[in-house]
Amino acid sequence: MLNRVQPQDVEYFRGLIPAERLLVGADIGSDYSHDELEGVHRSPDLVIRAISTEEVSRVLAYANKRCLPVVTRGSGTGLVGGAVAIEGGILLETTLMNAILELDERNFTVTVQAGVLLMDLSKYVEERGFFYPPDPGEKSATLGGNISTNAGGMRAVKYGVTRDYVLALRAVLPDGSVEVFGGKVVKNSSGYSLKDLLIGAEGTLAVITEATLRLLPLPAENISLLCPFPSFHQAIAAVPELLQLGVDPTAVEFFTRDVIALAEDFLGKRFPKIGTDAALLLTFDGSDAAEVEARSEKAARLCLTLGAPDVFIVDTDERKSAVWSARGAFLEAIKAGAVQMDECDVVVPRANIIPFVERVEQLSRELDMRIPYFGHAGDGNLHIYLCRDGLSKDAFEQKLGQGFAVLYEKAAELGGMVSGEHGIGWAKRGYLEDRLGPLQVALMARVKAAFDSNGILNPHKVCT
Ligand SMILES: Cc1cc2nc3c(=O)[nH]c(=O)nc-3n(C[C@H](O)[C@H](O)[C@H](O)COP(=O)(O)OP(=O)(O)OC[C@H]3O[C@@H](n4cnc5c(N)ncnc54)[C@H](O)[C@@H]3O)c2cc1C
Repeated sequence: MLNRVQPQDVEYFRGLIPAERLLVGADIGSDYSHDELEGVHRSPDLVIRAISTEEVSRVLAYANKRCLPVVTRGSGTGLVGGAVAIEGGILLETTLMNAILELDERNFTVTVQAGVLLMDLSKYVEERGFFYPPDPGEKSATLGGNISTNAGGMRAVKYGVTRDYVLALRAVLPDGSVEVFGGKVVKNSSGYSLKDLLIGAEGTLAVITEATLRLLPLPAENISLLCPFPSFHQAIAAVPELLQLGVDPTAVEFFTRDVIALAEDFLGKRFPKIGTDAALLLTFDGSDAAEVEARSEKAARLCLTLGAPDVFIVDTDERKSAVWSARGAFLEAIKAGAVQMDECDVVVPRANIIPFVERVEQLSRELDMRIPYFGHAGDGNLHIYLCRDGLSKDAFEQKLGQGFAVLYEKAAELGGMVSGEHGIGWAKRGYLEDRLGPLQVALMARVKAAFDSNGILNPHKVCT
């Protein structure tokens, strides 16, 4: 049973945390009551902007004794309400823990505090000739948030996701004890991987305060191709063929004409005229320019054979800016163009994207609802947005429930999963339970209890 924060708790924290890093009651800005998911708002009782592992440890040790809820928050860019303090209590914010602690060039690792932003890490390592491959769209997210949601992004098709780059984590357990999970080792068969349990746990098991991440040498060359296709069927049908061709694409992104139009309106910028209903955006990288070019040419030839009327090389600065700024803005453009919307982030086996997208198109007709979508076609992860437009709030909620039920059921039927990269948080818990069934959810609850017997960390998230 969790407790509400009492005046004596506030007094305790006033003795621990300087006033400029402790926000209470009316001083807590509305930003802290939500993340990027519309529709779930709750203000915490206290915000603590932590600066060190030791401080996090003291906060948790006290909160655990008093059974006070603690929600960890990075930049609050999550899309499933994960960083919302549903029970009130303490919001522990990490963005001041933003030091890059060590670049170990011989071991190809970098160690960071959890509040370092993805864009700052990428810049830091790339200036030194290294590469951190995970590339989720929102670059102002923290590494702690990326690790806690196992963030994906556009390069997953070649390089994998955040989990594949986390070697070690320093984390604080609910009772305040500090533990390092994993190490700077390339392989590890030493018992259960507790580090891997913390990755994607959305702050329900421990608070991550530092991470050691694997780096690669920075690929010197990259080429992008924009490949229009007459229909989404043809665009998506090209994906398995491209993957079988041995051209090793870094990214295979898929989008429709409607989504491009929304991004153009949102940015006030023209996208290269594709003149078709759908397109693939492919990238290739490597260390040798001729070899990267040869792979991209082979892919371009295949796309032309498979129905693309043309293939554009995204090479001039103007074209790069038009294409990549539009691709980066899809989510925000869809959001800006809708009165309200909610998102489905399913992942299906790559060979099953077409039947899934067909079901989305059919659903849009059945519900008489605008449902724009785009996706990481190279890894089967689709982002589908149910938009309210002219509907009343109640009618929208009703259609949303119907629509999500159909989409998650279809994804399951095709062997897919509830979330490819955004996580479960508050918003998708019911669908997780439906997909995994009572046994797996009960196992998850037992893992949760093993880490957090009082249930103070991020209550009502994932499976709790
Ligand atoms: C425009 C846009 C584009 C996006 N594109 C992508 C994309 O391509 N791929 C993708 O995967 N996601 C994407 N996202 C979603 C979001 O950016 C990611 O989920 C990101 O990982 C969240 O990081 P954050 O720092 O904002 O975390 P928050 O939103 O603050 O928190 C997310 C979750 O992690 C937990 N958490 C945060 N820090 C810690 C910590 N130190 N220890 C323990 N738990 C912690 C929180 O409790 C919460 O459950 C996008 C979001 C937006 C708005």
